[in-house]
Amino acid sequence: MLELDYFKELLIERKKQIEKNILETNSELEELKSVEINDDGDYASLCTNNLIDNAINEQQVNELKEIEEALKKIENGTYGTCEMCGEPIRKLRLKVKPYAKYCIVCREIVEKEPVR
Ligand SMILES: [Zn+2]
Repeated sequence: MLELDYFKELLIERKKQIEKNILETNSELEELKSVEINDDGDYASLCTNNLIDNAINEQQVNELKEIEEALKKIENGTYGTCEMCGEPIRKLRLKVKPYAKYCIVCREIVEKEPVR
Protein backbone atom coordinates (compact mmCIF):
# COMPACT_ATOMS: atom_id res chain seq x y z
CA MET A 1 0.00 0.00 0.00
CA LEU A 2 1.36 3.36 -1.01
CA GLU A 3 1.32 6.27 1.34
CA LEU A 4 -0.84 8.40 -0.90
CA ASP A 5 -0.92 11.37 1.43
CA TYR A 6 2.85 11.46 1.45
CA PHE A 7 3.06 11.50 -2.35
CA LYS A 8 0.21 13.95 -2.65
CA GLU A 9 2.14 16.31 -0.44
CA LEU A 10 5.31 15.80 -2.47
CA LEU A 11 3.41 16.60 -5.65
CA ILE A 12 1.71 19.67 -4.22
CA GLU A 13 4.99 21.01 -2.85
CA ARG A 14 6.67 20.50 -6.22
CA LYS A 15 3.73 22.10 -8.00
CA LYS A 16 3.94 25.20 -5.80
CA GLN A 17 7.68 25.44 -6.42
CA ILE A 18 7.26 25.23 -10.19
CA GLU A 19 4.43 27.74 -10.24
CA LYS A 20 6.63 30.12 -8.30
CA ASN A 21 9.55 29.52 -10.71
CA ILE A 22 7.34 30.17 -13.72
CA LEU A 23 5.97 33.36 -12.23
CA GLU A 24 9.48 34.57 -11.43
CA THR A 25 10.76 33.73 -14.90
CA ASN A 26 7.83 35.52 -16.47
CA SER A 27 8.32 38.65 -14.44
CA GLU A 28 12.03 38.60 -15.26
CA LEU A 29 11.14 38.36 -18.93
CA GLU A 30 8.78 41.30 -18.58
CA GLU A 31 11.54 43.31 -16.95
CA LEU A 32 13.94 42.44 -19.75
CA LYS A 33 11.43 43.52 -22.35
CA SER A 34 10.98 46.88 -20.70
CA VAL A 35 14.75 47.54 -20.66
CA GLU A 36 15.90 49.98 -23.29
CA ILE A 37 18.44 48.37 -25.66
CA ASN A 38 21.05 50.62 -27.24
CA ASP A 39 23.95 48.33 -27.82
CA ASP A 40 24.14 45.34 -30.20
CA GLY A 41 26.17 43.27 -27.73
CA ASP A 42 23.54 43.66 -25.06
CA TYR A 43 20.85 42.70 -27.46
CA ALA A 44 22.61 39.46 -28.39
CA SER A 45 23.05 38.37 -24.80
CA LEU A 46 19.50 39.36 -24.04
CA CYS A 47 18.27 37.09 -26.83
CA THR A 48 20.30 34.18 -25.54
CA ASN A 49 18.94 34.69 -22.05
CA ASN A 50 15.42 34.80 -23.38
CA LEU A 51 15.89 31.54 -25.21
CA ILE A 52 17.27 29.85 -22.12
CA ASP A 53 14.45 31.21 -20.00
CA ASN A 54 11.87 30.04 -22.49
CA ALA A 55 13.35 26.56 -22.58
CA ILE A 56 13.32 26.37 -18.79
CA ASN A 57 9.77 27.63 -18.75
CA GLU A 58 8.60 25.05 -21.24
CA GLN A 59 10.20 22.24 -19.27
CA GLN A 60 8.55 23.45 -16.09
CA VAL A 61 5.15 23.78 -17.76
CA ASN A 62 5.47 20.18 -18.94
CA GLU A 63 6.41 19.02 -15.47
CA LEU A 64 3.46 20.91 -14.06
CA LYS A 65 1.12 19.03 -16.42
CA GLU A 66 2.58 15.70 -15.31
CA ILE A 67 2.07 16.69 -11.70
CA GLU A 68 -1.56 17.64 -12.37
CA GLU A 69 -2.09 14.22 -13.97
CA ALA A 70 -0.49 12.45 -11.03
CA LEU A 71 -2.72 14.37 -8.62
CA LYS A 72 -5.79 13.31 -10.61
CA LYS A 73 -4.60 9.73 -10.40
CA ILE A 74 -4.39 10.00 -6.63
CA GLU A 75 -8.01 11.20 -6.66
CA ASN A 76 -9.27 8.35 -8.85
CA GLY A 77 -7.12 5.67 -7.24
CA THR A 78 -4.82 4.80 -10.15
CA TYR A 79 -1.74 6.51 -8.76
CA GLY A 80 1.47 4.47 -8.66
CA THR A 81 0.43 2.09 -11.42
CA CYS A 82 2.44 1.86 -14.63
CA GLU A 83 0.44 3.18 -17.60
CA MET A 84 1.99 0.59 -19.88
CA CYS A 85 1.93 -2.73 -18.08
CA GLY A 86 -0.37 -1.97 -15.16
CA GLU A 87 2.18 -3.13 -12.62
CA PRO A 88 2.79 -1.05 -9.51
CA ILE A 89 5.64 1.44 -9.79
CA ARG A 90 8.30 0.96 -7.13
CA LYS A 91 7.99 3.33 -4.21
CA LEU A 92 11.65 4.25 -4.43
CA ARG A 93 11.11 5.47 -7.97
CA LEU A 94 8.07 7.48 -6.97
CA LYS A 95 10.06 9.13 -4.23
CA VAL A 96 12.56 10.37 -6.80
CA LYS A 97 9.92 11.20 -9.39
CA PRO A 98 6.48 11.34 -7.80
CA TYR A 99 4.77 11.95 -11.14
CA ALA A 100 6.36 8.94 -12.88
CA LYS A 101 3.95 7.31 -15.34
CA TYR A 102 5.84 4.12 -16.03
CA CYS A 103 7.71 1.48 -14.10
CA ILE A 104 11.46 1.23 -14.71
CA VAL A 105 11.12 -1.53 -17.32
CA CYS A 106 8.53 0.34 -19.41
CA ARG A 107 10.36 3.62 -18.99
CA GLU A 108 13.36 2.06 -20.73
CA ILE A 109 11.19 0.81 -23.57
CA VAL A 110 9.60 4.25 -23.96
CA GLU A 111 12.98 5.97 -23.95
CA LYS A 112 14.37 3.67 -26.62
CA GLU A 113 11.55 4.51 -28.97
CA PRO A 114 12.53 7.07 -31.58
CA VAL A 115 11.32 10.59 -30.92
CA ARG A 116 8.47 11.52 -33.19
ZN1 LIG B 1 5.44 -1.00 -16.69
